[in-house]
Amino acid sequence: MFYGLDDDYCRLCKSLDGSIFHIICQCPRFAQTEYRRRHDRIARNLHWALCKKYGFLVAKRPSEHFGARTIANGKVRLLWDSQLDIVGRTSANKPDISIFEDNSITLIDVTIPGDPKVLQKEQEKIEKYREISEELADYWHRPVKFIPITIGALGTVTPNYDRYFNELDDFSSIHNRICMELRYQMS
Ligand SMILES: [Zn+2]
Repeated sequence: MFYGLDDDYCRLCKSLDGSIFHIICQCPRFAQTEYRRRHDRIARNLHWALCKKYGFLVAKRPSEHFGARTIANGKVRLLWDSQLDIVGRTSANKPDISIFEDNSITLIDVTIPGDPKVLQKEQEKIEKYREISEELADYWHRPVKFIPITIGALGTVTPNYDRYFNELDDFSSIHNRICMELRYQMS
């Protein structure tokens, strides 16, 4: 992914920012391709692990997993990359994964910013999802938890990362897979 890198400018989009962070996460030429694929691979790992956790049949490896838009059983309804619309409300958002359980709702959104911005992006996501979380709680009469999974393109995480991950139970193996996905992008 490092072709086109120059000290002074990006040869792909002609931006005057030729920094490594421009290339690995800010160049508009990659926004809908490389960055999107990287984001989706990481979100897919999480979705795969959640499907397993809730007893859905899954592919042997996350790389073979293609998340169904909606999947449900008696315990839970899992939404993948789905718009959350509430009748009569204006706020709408589209978390990567939404988990509807009888006594709670959990929203998960994955962001892969430039490493110096992980904390800032995590806060922005929390703000972005505050309103929809309150609306959902009001509408469904159950607590709503938002979990931002924010990982720098070079692997930096915030001090809150472990706590958020632990809220998804023991996902240490998934964290390892995510690190592998980030390494894969560098090859
Ligand atoms: Zn560029």
